[in-house]
Amino acid sequence: MSVIIERLAIVGVGLIGGSFALALREAGVVRTIVGVDRDPANLEQALALGVVDEIAASAAQGVRGTQMVFLSVPVCSIPGVLQEIAPALDPGCIVTDGGSVKAEIVAACQQLMPTGCHFVGGHPIAGTEHSGAAASFATLFKGKRCILTPTETTDRQALQAVSRLWQAAGAEVCSMEPGHHDRIFAEISHLPHAVAYALVHAVGTADVEGENVLSYTAGGFRDFTRIASSDPAMWRDIALMNRAALLASIDGFSASLAELRGRIDRGDGDGLAEFFTIAKQFRDGIL
Ligand code: NAP
Repeated sequence: MSVIIERLAIVGVGLIGGSFALALREAGVVRTIVGVDRDPANLEQALALGVVDEIAASAAQGVRGTQMVFLSVPVCSIPGVLQEIAPALDPGCIVTDGGSVKAEIVAACQQLMPTGCHFVGGHPIAGTEHSGAAASFATLFKGKRCILTPTETTDRQALQAVSRLWQAAGAEVCSMEPGHHDRIFAEISHLPHAVAYALVHAVGTADVEGENVLSYTAGGFRDFTRIASSDPAMWRDIALMNRAALLASIDGFSASLAELRGRIDRGDGDGLAEFFTIAKQFRDGIL
């Protein structure tokens, strides 16, 4: 593939930023990638591992002379980072992000962009429970979706450039209205993380005659709770930023759990079998 971007800055060279960098380097579509991170040890490691070509001491320094900036820091930090780098952006620079929540970020970032620069919201639907540059790998986005969230004011050429980079990284790109994105991902991603954390919390603090219940974990518990090993600070930010949609999802889940509880309490075997069968059909359908 030919070069699409001469110089790209990645602010937050963790799992997502680092994997994006590796995928783009492998595809040969970016000439130089400069990394910025608030954790100097992580940044040094990113350079040593060949995730980025250069590192910069500050975000403002890192974005100077770039045609595109990718913000891959926790969601609540994205507008603040953009505010910090805005005066240093070159005319025409495109800023995009990989944050897991979109409506608040897109609204804030569009406001903060200097005239002549363009913001495009994005969210790659790929990840693991690990963090940091050392956890990044080039194939993370292969065959996965990346959702871009343009609005009516989004520059179409900027949208196309961001879309081409994600495609070069192996992703299938689609577009969605930011609020719609947040309601969908409250259900399919943010609720499962909240439930996994709550489940581990409940079981970890359960008192069964003084036994350490967690010492009996087997495959099922581990499979179900893998995502509760994700970074707590990242999920704090996501829960707070997508609060309204997540609360609605939690209410829906609570109603479902209450329904299940009622059927167990009533000894309603047929009702339970029906409940489990419907859930199994949904689950089997996604495999
Ligand atoms: P990560 O591995 O923890 O990487 C984030 C990096 O950004 C860390 O090195 C962090 O340093 C650094 N950082 C935090 N605040 C910063 C700031 N203000 N300026 C510069 N660097 C800063 O996190 P990640 O999993 O890549 O997630 C990054 C973004 O991708 C988040 O917005 C998340 O919502 C989104 N996302 C994540 C996943 C996933 O599965 N992980 C999937 C899709 C989208 P510290 O360690 O010192 O905080």
